[in-house]
Amino acid sequence: MWTDTRPAAELPRLFEKGADVISLAGGLPDLDVLPLGDISQQLARLVRLGGKLALQYTTPHVAKALVPAVADLMAREDGHADAGNLIPTSGSQMGLTAVALALGTPGDTILVQTPAYPGATAAFRTAGLDLHAAGEDADGLCPQQLRTTVRELRAAGRTVRLLYVNPTFQNPTGATLSVPRRAEILTACRELDLLLIEDNPYGLLGFDGTTTTLFQALDPQQVVYLGTFSKIFAPGLRSGWIAAPEHLRYDLARVAEIISLSPSALAQGALAAYYSRSGWTELIDRYRDSYRERCTLMADALDAELGADSPWTWQRPGGGFYLWLRHRDGADATRYAQAAAAHGVSFVPGGHFSIDGEHNDGLRLCFSNVPRKKITEAVTRLAAALTETPAV
Ligand code: PMP
Repeated sequence: MWTDTRPAAELPRLFEKGADVISLAGGLPDLDVLPLGDISQQLARLVRLGGKLALQYTTPHVAKALVPAVADLMAREDGHADAGNLIPTSGSQMGLTAVALALGTPGDTILVQTPAYPGATAAFRTAGLDLHAAGEDADGLCPQQLRTTVRELRAAGRTVRLLYVNPTFQNPTGATLSVPRRAEILTACRELDLLLIEDNPYGLLGFDGTTTTLFQALDPQQVVYLGTFSKIFAPGLRSGWIAAPEHLRYDLARVAEIISLSPSALAQGALAAYYSRSGWTELIDRYRDSYRERCTLMADALDAELGADSPWTWQRPGGGFYLWLRHRDGADATRYAQAAAAHGVSFVPGGHFSIDGEHNDGLRLCFSNVPRKKITEAVTRLAAALTETPAV
């Protein structure tokens, strides 16, 4: 059931181009770090030696050779994967859709950490779910507000079973929920009988190499985990996974099969081959270095261009792709997008990440794919647009 016909805001913006426009909009990884020679050799070998399998339909399972590669990734954040809890996806976007269709019933309410990734909210709406903000405080998603919200919604006759969270280097804010806060949220989820959907594309991209224990690690029975190769390898392979508790596996696997019949054997083969030759550490380190450098360039330029008396505030993220600027007096960022376009820079206004009209005062800047030498110029253009546009 389509309840919202708008495209997910981020999708058309990924490839937004224009004469001399520097895009800080689309959340694309920096594929310059990929060893393309190695990958093409491995792909050629895969097709030459096993093409009839690699290019055929395959079973709706994570390929046996890929299971240790996924387990290695999840173990880096204390999570757990094995052949028994994994379901393949074509990336977390499919995972979100599968979760919403398999675990939600049209008309149910899903609680959402806000501001939220628009691809997630679009997937939930498309599955006929109503969205409701879970409630935040200064430390992020707030367990006490969660309790109050769920009780109020249930008292009003709503069915509430799911909570969606993007806990580490969140899209769009770059914020990370602390481990104690995660534990408190899980306690509330157990009390309230809520399943937590943990969407974690950026967790391994901490600039200093540190990671944060997954919700899935803290309580595997209460959490459906969505993982993806898009940000630590390449989104073009369209490969990811769901790690689910035993009692939900059948329903999720059934819906995943309805959506895509089977994962791509070629993509899974390429990932498994890469892992067995090179492991993940070197590539992830290269991604981290690239993003740390870009983020530092952007944050330093913002410090220089928007001084302490600026109405705009932001925090340096510890990892991921995004920097979130907010207007202290709540001015609508859409107004600034037009001025920014005139100056030759683009970003995603906060309203795109809203489910309830909040967050219009935010502005998402993505640094992950901007050429290094253009970052300072992009911020200079942005600062000119922000400074010249009146707040009201
Ligand atoms: N979740 C979040 C929070 C994202 O930022 C993205 C991509 N921008 C996705 C899911 C979807 O990623 P993919 O389908 O490529 O795994």
